[in-house]
Amino acid sequence: MSYVGPDFEPPRPPRHPLRGPLTVAVAALVPGALIGWLVWQTVGDSGGDAQASPSSTSSPWGRPATPGASDDGKEQPGGTGDSEKPGGSPSASAPAASGSLKGKVVVIDPGHNPGNFQHTSEINQQVNIGTNSKECDTTGTATNDGYTEAKFTLDVARRMRTVLEKEGATVKFTQDGDRSWGPCVDERAQIGNKADADAVVSIHADGAGAGNRGFHVILPGSVHSGAADTRPIVASSRELGERVAGSFLRVTGSAPSNYIGGGTGLDVRKDLGGLNLSTVPKVFIECGNMRDSKDAAHLTSSAWRQKAAQGISEGIVSFLHG
Ligand code: ZN
Repeated sequence: MSYVGPDFEPPRPPRHPLRGPLTVAVAALVPGALIGWLVWQTVGDSGGDAQASPSSTSSPWGRPATPGASDDGKEQPGGTGDSEKPGGSPSASAPAASGSLKGKVVVIDPGHNPGNFQHTSEINQQVNIGTNSKECDTTGTATNDGYTEAKFTLDVARRMRTVLEKEGATVKFTQDGDRSWGPCVDERAQIGNKADADAVVSIHADGAGAGNRGFHVILPGSVHSGAADTRPIVASSRELGERVAGSFLRVTGSAPSNYIGGGTGLDVRKDLGGLNLSTVPKVFIECGNMRDSKDAAHLTSSAWRQKAAQGISEGIVSFLHG
């Protein structure tokens, strides 16, 4: 996703300048990610501004903090600053045994389409998203070196399919590079609805200004207008999103967004057709900012994309296991 397209809003300032509660949550929820997180904080471009709040007992991802968990924010020794080295090992935190998702349907929505750039008139047609009309689809963003978001989303989605099918899930895509453009955002939602999906995740990477870093998961806000009625899926989508955010952080070692979500890695929106029209639990994830050189180094790394796919998939598996 980028901020130039019609389904985007301008970058918003952080709602809360302090990242303290998150630090507590990270320490409590995903100790394995702590090293990567602290290393990022220490050497990254926002180092030193974390203020752990010992009084915080709940996490921004909805699960209670574990009493006694480390929340002192102390730097771990031996850090290298390479956030590609995750604090948690995917193999050590792999989902449950193969076949555990038998009967579960997961729809993966690779954001945009590599062909959208050549089909601007088609993707600019208006579709009804319940609250209003919007462009059918957008081109997405790209790194400064020209690696497109659409290529990124397809690659991560395919890696996720491998992981999730190994778990026994039935995996469907909204597009698999098998059509010249789109689908439109309303059709993307319909594909998940018609599949009666147990979970839908839309894969994206952002196109914000340099210096804006990290991932965030977008949750559907409560919308009831026209064809859109997200009220039945708001709570379940939040649960899905929290699981995805937690697993993504743990497996990739990436930090939550420093420009959206107040450090929680979560954002709520009511302007995305793909969410507004969904009748099944659905979230978007912005895996990083393609326009930031440090994030771009991750997004263009196949090894990092494998971690991203693993992290998102593990969040889905966790959600589906309840
Ligand atoms: Zn996108």
